[in-house]
Amino acid sequence: MIRNDKASVYILGSLALLLFLSVAPAAALGDGETAPTRDAKQPVDDVYTAKIKKYTTQPFFTSPLVDYLPASKNVPTPEAVLGDVAGAPGILPYAEDVYKYMRLLEKASPCVKVFSIGKTEEGREMIAVAVSSPENLKNLEENRARLAKLADPRTIKLDDEEADRIVAQAVPVYYITGTIHSPETGAPTALMELAYRLAVDESPYIREIRDGMITLITPVVEVDGRDRMVDIYRWHLSHPKDFYPPLIYWGKYVAHDNNRDAMGVTLKLTENVLNTYVGWKAQVLHDLHESVPYLYDNTAGDGPFNAWVDPILTDEWEMIGWRNVSDMTKFGMPGVFTHGVFDTWSPGYLMFIAAMHNGISRLYETFGNGGADTLPRTLDPEEYARTWYRQNPPLPKVLWSQRDNNNYEQTGLLTSLHYFNENKRLFLKNSYLKAKRSVTKPGAEGPAAYVLPSDDPRASSEAELLRVLQKQAVEISRATAAFTVTLPVKKSAKPRKDAKDAKEKDTPPAPTTREFPAGSYIVRMDQPYSRIADALLDYQYWSPDDPQKTPYDDTGWTFGELFGVQVTRVTDPKVLDVAIERVKEIHAPAGVSGDGTIYAINNNAEPALATLRYKLHDTSIEAAEEPFESGGKKFSRGSFLLRNVTRSQLNDAISDLGLQATPVSAMPSVKTHPVRAARVALVHTWLSTQAEGWWRIAFDNLSIPYDYISTQVVAKTSDLNAKYDVILFPPVGFFSSPTAIINGLPSAWGNPLPWKNTPETPNLVGKNDSTDDMRPGLGWEGVANLQNFVAKGGVLLTATDTSRFALSIGLADGVSVGNAQKMKIVGSVVGTRLVDAASPIAYGYDEKLSAYCDNGPIFSLSSVSGARGFRRLGGEMHSRPTGRGTADDQDFTIGRPGAEVPEEPKAEIWENPLLTDEQLHNNFRAIPPANRARVIFRYADGKELLISGLVEGGEEIAQHAAVVDVPTGNGHVVLFSINPVYRGETRGTYSLVLNTILNFDNLNAGRKLAEK
Ligand SMILES: [Zn+2]
Repeated sequence: MIRNDKASVYILGSLALLLFLSVAPAAALGDGETAPTRDAKQPVDDVYTAKIKKYTTQPFFTSPLVDYLPASKNVPTPEAVLGDVAGAPGILPYAEDVYKYMRLLEKASPCVKVFSIGKTEEGREMIAVAVSSPENLKNLEENRARLAKLADPRTIKLDDEEADRIVAQAVPVYYITGTIHSPETGAPTALMELAYRLAVDESPYIREIRDGMITLITPVVEVDGRDRMVDIYRWHLSHPKDFYPPLIYWGKYVAHDNNRDAMGVTLKLTENVLNTYVGWKAQVLHDLHESVPYLYDNTAGDGPFNAWVDPILTDEWEMIGWRNVSDMTKFGMPGVFTHGVFDTWSPGYLMFIAAMHNGISRLYETFGNGGADTLPRTLDPEEYARTWYRQNPPLPKVLWSQRDNNNYEQTGLLTSLHYFNENKRLFLKNSYLKAKRSVTKPGAEGPAAYVLPSDDPRASSEAELLRVLQKQAVEISRATAAFTVTLPVKKSAKPRKDAKDAKEKDTPPAPTTREFPAGSYIVRMDQPYSRIADALLDYQYWSPDDPQKTPYDDTGWTFGELFGVQVTRVTDPKVLDVAIERVKEIHAPAGVSGDGTIYAINNNAEPALATLRYKLHDTSIEAAEEPFESGGKKFSRGSFLLRNVTRSQLNDAISDLGLQATPVSAMPSVKTHPVRAARVALVHTWLSTQAEGWWRIAFDNLSIPYDYISTQVVAKTSDLNAKYDVILFPPVGFFSSPTAIINGLPSAWGNPLPWKNTPETPNLVGKNDSTDDMRPGLGWEGVANLQNFVAKGGVLLTATDTSRFALSIGLADGVSVGNAQKMKIVGSVVGTRLVDAASPIAYGYDEKLSAYCDNGPIFSLSSVSGARGFRRLGGEMHSRPTGRGTADDQDFTIGRPGAEVPEEPKAEIWENPLLTDEQLHNNFRAIPPANRARVIFRYADGKELLISGLVEGGEEIAQHAAVVDVPTGNGHVVLFSINPVYRGETRGTYSLVLNTILNFDNLNAGRKLAEK
């Protein structure tokens, strides 16, 4: 019944649409606008055109711009490489074939030039293809110089008239990027054909684009992932009846998150696209995706909009987005819309490179089939629903082809290019104005600058943060002398506590000043790319009352907080008068300060310390378990003491790590223990590899070796201790359940899903992992092996969903996970507090630490085995019984003297509840003090929890343990509620993981036990 109903809806829908189309008037044009019609004089490639028609499943899934292909005598069509037309069923080219075609075009047409823009992590090439008139391509450098003046208005002294003169001459650059998301497969063929059309078509509509602007195309952004995806598709074609493996790896490290890297710029693809965008001084970055029917232009999505976006840009988004919908509606193409539900808050998306660099960011979601098969596609009601922003929604059910998708992508892009060209003077002027408003920021909304002091104890992390800004094309300066700035007064809602009388209560506190030493870094806001620096370094606030209830991605990211380095937002304009020098390369102070036989390196929780441990494998390194002083210098807990190393060896090892070593006359009298290079395994599932991919890239960048093994290998390795000291089990992602980790993918039916290189799939494995069948999970053998590993002295480290997993299999007694009722912490920066400074896991950390939290599990502790911890509310729970007196009084009993009430043991929310003698009596479940969980960091109090982003219902997790070390058997399970290693943005919490590794055999150091 239901199926019939749906089918009839589908047929009716199609008929209605056809009827509508038959009466639709020809596209109405504005004054002086060029008609989107082909040049009648130019011959058409009939064979190619016939195939376009054949592969388009409905006459209304195309447009007059792409329903034909102009013929050329000398320029090859995509068929030359594909063997069929772009978007043909069954054909998905490797990146290499796409490049081959682009280079054929370059050879045959003076309108095409191919540029190499860098390599991927696996060494594959990335390209950008420029298509424009021969004259424009000849004058690229001259034009770039013009655009550079608009991009940096300081070069023309912010002279608007000069800008107008340049705007009148300059040729804008519109940059299109394809298939960053590997299962979204249509863009490369669409872009091959688009390049051909732009180079060859003589219709006035296309000629205007060619002559008026430069279209720059990176047809494949995620090249490593593209080749894997094509492998899978080929496997599917040769095993048509089998299920094919899901694309578990895209790039070497991450999957979908490759489109969340535009803040940290950790991935090569981001860096290469950013350099191309900034290097070409482009005006637009238009990124192609495929997950929504049929074309969702989420150039401008829903609110909230990113706070650092210029209003000029938001107007451009609306202009371009709605015009695009209108143009395609006129063609009679259904399912084209803008606005949608995506919020525009996070600047992590690739397209946001443009939004944060004074350009225009754009993104299409078209409809892809995840391959080149033509498939019946049935939509969900919310997908075909008519809404105010989608008045002509997609149809409930259609037959959909890759060619349909290519038609939508090309039509959208061609109308966009044409509209952009027609209004290019406006958009060029806007790009200048946005840059000018970035330069004049200090005198407008502010701030004047951000300052990073030269005496930050985390010099190497500070340098890393500054390098991120440099990758973002931000200019960094250093003060040549010490300077003082006035800091703004923090407004406080509460009356001043220190006020002596009412009058003083009304007078605001005096502004404070701060002196920064010579050499401090100044990120001036009077520069063209101040916007991105401001967006990364400032704080974010997402109101719990915001009408947007489903944030699309992270809500907070403040880089200074997440890197654990000091960043001061300075509004005092005098900071711009400080004498400075521009910094080309950032070098943290490093080296050995004298000769000695023993050297000390202070521990400030710098990840570089772990790099050093592995680098100097033959050197004896001890960690001081207490702070000490030597030669007037103070060293914190965990400081390294090195022997058997010469000054020059040590100097070589630390000079590029941003570490400083000091000779000490003798070993300090405090207790020490060896810091050993632990043998580390990093475990992944075959469910998802992305969250752990961010851990891998962090470890690889720090040159810390590890074995990369799957849960299947854990299941097969009965003696894990023989190989490893520490097993890291990073988050699986998507809040994976313990049963999913154990069971894996369903294997009671279907066929094996191999992930390995074969003649059909030569690119699948790369340097990652392989298996004959992705389906089996950790299994119960794996659980047993992990239990044995910890029991025999191994250290297991888990975070977020894998912490839940470890707890659910009973690996860490005395810790439980509570269920959140109202809590909503969506990718936010939260405050944590140091609880146990003596734990090696805390070495180098201060009292306060900011961390990334995404609804991270709420840990509660119990001193009784098997008992669920609960939130103790102290006095409220053990309030006095009903009786005489006030709340604080003691009751009485008439006729006898009162009895003394013994004091209740009190424990804070993050602590192990203490046990009374009564509770201890013959209680074999009572966990002995040495076996109880040791809390290293806890979440801050409710009021101090939010650092950046959205924290709603934070009281539920406030004060609860955030990092816990649970002694289990002879080993330890170290549980994280925060995610300490995330998207290259959380360097400040890396050392929690690295400290665990370096001190794996001394995690109990400094532990103070409860009396009972
Ligand atoms: Zn996508």
